[in-house]
Amino acid sequence: MYRNFAIVPRIIFGRGCFNQLDDILADRRTGGAMVFLVDDVFENTALMKRVPAEKGDIVMPVNVDEEPKTAYIDELVARLQQGGASTPDGVIGIGGGSTLDIAKAVSLLLTNPGSATDYQGWDLIKSPGVYKVGIPTLAGTGAEISRTTVLTGPEKKLGINSDYTLYNQIVLDPELLAGVPRDQWFYTGMDCYIHDVESLNGTYINEFSRAYGEKSLELCRQVFLEDHDDSDDKLMMASYFGGMSIAYSQVGACHALSYGLSFLLGIHHGIGCCIAFQQLDEFYHDGVAEFKEMMDRHGITLPTGVTASLSEADMEKMISVALGLAPLWENCLGPDWQRLMSRNRVRELYERM
Ligand code: NAD
Ligand code: ZN
Repeated sequence: MYRNFAIVPRIIFGRGCFNQLDDILADRRTGGAMVFLVDDVFENTALMKRVPAEKGDIVMPVNVDEEPKTAYIDELVARLQQGGASTPDGVIGIGGGSTLDIAKAVSLLLTNPGSATDYQGWDLIKSPGVYKVGIPTLAGTGAEISRTTVLTGPEKKLGINSDYTLYNQIVLDPELLAGVPRDQWFYTGMDCYIHDVESLNGTYINEFSRAYGEKSLELCRQVFLEDHDDSDDKLMMASYFGGMSIAYSQVGACHALSYGLSFLLGIHHGIGCCIAFQQLDEFYHDGVAEFKEMMDRHGITLPTGVTASLSEADMEKMISVALGLAPLWENCLGPDWQRLMSRNRVRELYERM
């Protein structure tokens, strides 16, 4: 059976296209509020002043010091409902992958009862969310195009995966990447590079995913191994194409291992993928070599010994989290992955990190 999947229906791309947000929203205004969820890193910045909020709209800074938790989504939804904005005209997320995921989840939980925890999984959402717009200020995760919002709950780190999770509109303005700190730019950009490598080298690969993955990889190489004035434009499109590639294939060993790092140690997605990827020479030989070249070129050093202080029980839990991601391993190693990927082999990889 082939998957019949939905994608984001409306996309605007180009330098300064953020200025058209006002017009885009005007078509959607029916008297309710527009809710702007903006990464709080932008408080008191020029971008915050450019948010086209009108009277009655709500601008809510969101904090992403920790990656999004289901409890935080529930809290934001409750705040909106208590503030009389239970059915806004739209939810607009402005920020990196974490903020984009928060806005997706808030949109869904405004129209689906209960807690975000209830919907972690596949196709559990029953009602379309509120109209939602995603505006990335970091490039690499592909969250702008994906049908998931990755959330950490009390029991698991797992996305709310559904066709309703997709944004109705995305605004891809490369100018918004301007102030990103260099290390964060690298980690999030490498998330995209790793999506490409894992997709292209996986057993799920097909011509659809290859077409997007190869283009994304080419753009990543231009961004991270060459010098181009328009490298922010390139990275923004690399992220989109990388997301499209994995949408019809899957990520692999690096993402499985990084989920464990994130769940047990709170390590953020981009840097967690980098920490894991550099140890995966045996799975992605050429990709890891090129990744190290990119690290050298940008003077990036990664933390070491991150798993050293874990208790035995936590190490066991981390191994279980990683091995729980069956499709990722199957994509990486094929149907026989369980025989190839023992708990000990996962432990050895973690111990190297
Ligand atoms: P992020 O959103 O977690 O942000 C990282 C840091 O960069 C934060 O401190 C943020 O405040 C800051 N920041 C964001 N934009 C900035 C800007 N323009 N200038 C200065 N600082 C800025 O980082 P990310 O790597 O984009 O996203 C990681 C998150 O994305 C994780 O929560 C991960 O689970 C999620 N993710 C989701 C998907 C998906 O398909 N939904 C895919 C991959 C990752
Ligand atoms: Zn990723």
